[in-house]
Amino acid sequence: MKPNILLVGNLINEEGQLVKNGYLWIQKDKIHHVGPTNPFSPDAEVTRYDLPQDCIILPGMIDIHIHGAAGADFMDGTQEALEIVAKHLPAEGTTSFLATTMTEDTPVIHKALNAAANFIKQSQCSTAEMIGIHLEGPFISHKRAGAQPKSFILKPDVHHFKEFQKSASDLIKLVTLAPEMDGGLELTKYLSSQNVIASIGHSDSSFLEVKKGIESGVSHVTHLFNGMRGMHHRDPGVAGAALLQDELKVEMIVDGVHASPEMIRLAYQSTGSERTILITDSMRAKGLGEGTYTLGGQLVTVKADEARLIDGTLAGSILPMNVAVKNMMDYTHCSWSDIVKMTSENAAKELQIFEQKGSLSVGKDADITVFTEECDVLMTFCRGELMYHRKGERV
Ligand SMILES: [Zn+2]
Repeated sequence: MKPNILLVGNLINEEGQLVKNGYLWIQKDKIHHVGPTNPFSPDAEVTRYDLPQDCIILPGMIDIHIHGAAGADFMDGTQEALEIVAKHLPAEGTTSFLATTMTEDTPVIHKALNAAANFIKQSQCSTAEMIGIHLEGPFISHKRAGAQPKSFILKPDVHHFKEFQKSASDLIKLVTLAPEMDGGLELTKYLSSQNVIASIGHSDSSFLEVKKGIESGVSHVTHLFNGMRGMHHRDPGVAGAALLQDELKVEMIVDGVHASPEMIRLAYQSTGSERTILITDSMRAKGLGEGTYTLGGQLVTVKADEARLIDGTLAGSILPMNVAVKNMMDYTHCSWSDIVKMTSENAAKELQIFEQKGSLSVGKDADITVFTEECDVLMTFCRGELMYHRKGERV
């Protein structure tokens, strides 16, 4: 039986306002009360944590684009891989995530989807929660493949997608595709009819082609600036459309490597916290240090903050979510309220789970991240369970 927990400290409430010296009362796996401290005394036994003045309580972070961490990758297609990643993530403040696949041989993708579908059927106690799957490829452009192996790229095809969705027990919530390809608009229309987010990414679309994609249901952009036609003064391309079109939510990898701090600042002036979603796009080397690893069957060398294929192509990141938050605040001077939108609220709304997650509101899942001023994670609760505590060990 989970104890009642009382957190006392600064927090961002459901209206996005900073409440100084507030409280948050967790009962079992839900948020039971939240508000200003005085005069509050819970009428039940609680485990109380009085947080330091420089800390802030936020809704748990949702990473909608992550391939792996701690030596495991979702494309390994095993329960063990899913468990390793899900257990690793609370240490960086992530409480739920979309397991992200990549372009690979079709049977390998099916195996990974199957494994993820089986994993979600388990109770997932004591880990971050896998809330669905992000299918990145194989319906992408050869011209903008990045680190996705070109030999396994497929033409967008509704029938093919349906087979993937069957293997995934309908858990695919987001698809990265290139809508300009033959069959791309048809697949986009089908995805939006099924409430699956159609995201433009690894795409060579011109600005006009992006507009057509939006008319067919594209509503999201995968890792802005990477794997897309960039901005040109006679064709704003995918990057320009991402900045200009208010219909689009925009993923950013804010590690200072995938895009320069200045480009993030420039983009944020257009997208603001309403349209930005911070992601990690991390691969298996996250949390392990420098060395040689694999991604989609290719060798990847990790050095300093970068993971690259032998030819130098960036191959995902090793970025923890809390470092993405720190960088974003450094680059843009955004507020904690903005951070809540970019790490939790926007994703929850887009995935249509805002009734359960995405803000510190009564009745929602007790997914909580406690940050220090320096953007270290002090504590992480996953559905009411303390899963990470900086000073102590995992509990
Ligand atoms: Zn990715």
